[in-house]
Amino acid sequence: MEVAAPADISNAASRARNAQFRWKDAPFSSRARVLRRFHDLILDRRELILDTIQAETGKARRDALAEIISVAGTARYYLANGAEHLHAKRRQPAVLAVTSAEVTYKPHGVVGLITPWNYPFLLAIADALPALLAGNAVILKPSELTPLSANLARDFLVQSELDPALLIVVHGGAEVGRELIQYVDYVGFTGSVATGRQVAVAASERLIPFSLELGGKNPMVVLEGASLDDAASGLVVGAFSNSGQTCISIERAYVQETIYEDFARRLVEKTSALKLGWSKSWDIDMGSLINADHAKKVLSRIQRAVDEGAHVVAGGRLRTDLGPSFVDPTVLTNVADDMPISTEETFGPVVALYPVRSVEEAVARANNSEFGLNASVWAGDQAQARAVARQLETGSVGVNSTLLIYNSFDVPMGGVKRSGIGRRHGEHGILRYTQAQSIVSSVAMGGGYDATLMRVKNERVVRALSALLKLWRRLA
Ligand code: NAD
Repeated sequence: MEVAAPADISNAASRARNAQFRWKDAPFSSRARVLRRFHDLILDRRELILDTIQAETGKARRDALAEIISVAGTARYYLANGAEHLHAKRRQPAVLAVTSAEVTYKPHGVVGLITPWNYPFLLAIADALPALLAGNAVILKPSELTPLSANLARDFLVQSELDPALLIVVHGGAEVGRELIQYVDYVGFTGSVATGRQVAVAASERLIPFSLELGGKNPMVVLEGASLDDAASGLVVGAFSNSGQTCISIERAYVQETIYEDFARRLVEKTSALKLGWSKSWDIDMGSLINADHAKKVLSRIQRAVDEGAHVVAGGRLRTDLGPSFVDPTVLTNVADDMPISTEETFGPVVALYPVRSVEEAVARANNSEFGLNASVWAGDQAQARAVARQLETGSVGVNSTLLIYNSFDVPMGGVKRSGIGRRHGEHGILRYTQAQSIVSSVAMGGGYDATLMRVKNERVVRALSALLKLWRRLA
């Protein structure tokens, strides 16, 4: 794949800007027509998409299918709700009867998306869909590790009759990402905290808006009364789907001590039964990691934890018998809160279990993190689970679930603390690609509402006005 030179990016930006000039005035229905075709096309052409995602990531076919399902879900959600979200809305005016107020939403122009490798089809294209529907052009820079899925997604949009200049893919690494920020009107970044910080600085230098979807160290809380079998199955999905390379995956589980042993036993049993490999077969549970370097990094994180006293109760090995990038799904116990395995994002198939005496201790330790992306709560009493969820310092919490937030398109998804700034999905996920413009109007008579104060000529009128304002406060 050819790496974009600075001139390529500036050319891409001019082409995108020209195309956006027409696109912004196209009715929503004609933009939606492209997305409708795209939605059906990716389902029809799923074999090619699955093959491409698997070829460049090594992931299991089911994990690749999850990407298609979420892209289709995003398209479906914004097709059904996008027009309403973007519609001009009447708002409370300054003074009833004589003034009015409405807010309208205008596209930024050219949106730059910089995306990671872990879900190369989903993360490249899903955030582009609402940007396009809102009337923007998009320039996408996918991860240099996974260029093919992004190209494919773009091809399908063009086959769905999108003007090719409205979605341009530029390839390369950090240099190209940095250059892209210089030309766009909004940056949507998904990736690591370290890069996110650099993106924020670069966007701030230009005073352009941006959003950051960053990493997590997501906790699960398992309380007495929960079905331990269900919770253990939930954790297997939450920790090991996509080989643990999911921003919202679970890496820490706080389990009440009365149920800890039983829960750990079930988790180990289920983890050890997972089938690893790389093939098109649907019965593979977990594929490889993105590459051998990342696998080594994950293994050295496990090794360090073991050197510091942690116990490996499942997995813990590089699976060179399968290939250089396979790591066994791994469960650790006897892990201290200050070990890197407890504090830093591993981004691999490793989960640590921690016994806790009380709900309060579970909440405090779950919140003891620089990250705040996602969390999961399992309890017998659903009201208690929701009460615990509300105490967790994360952008999302799943009750009886771990990854559900990604497919809950009507609610915002994003992080607090170092996990990011901004949200995708829901109303916010499309309005972030717009600038709100407020249009307020007044009757024209005598210079309109703004001239009201010109009529104040003495203290008596000021007193009457104050009394009126007090009455208004009581009625409001
Ligand atoms: P990364 O930060 O290394 O790279 C992400 C993208 O940024 C790539 O396209 C890369 O080429 C580009 N980039 C690198 N340096 C840049 C710079 N200085 N300026 C502009 N662009 C630059 O992340 P990664 O390793 O590809 O992805 C893994 C990380 O992404 C994990 O931390 C994971 O948690 C996070 N992630 C977050 C979400 C979310 O929604 N919150 C989703 C998926 C992944």
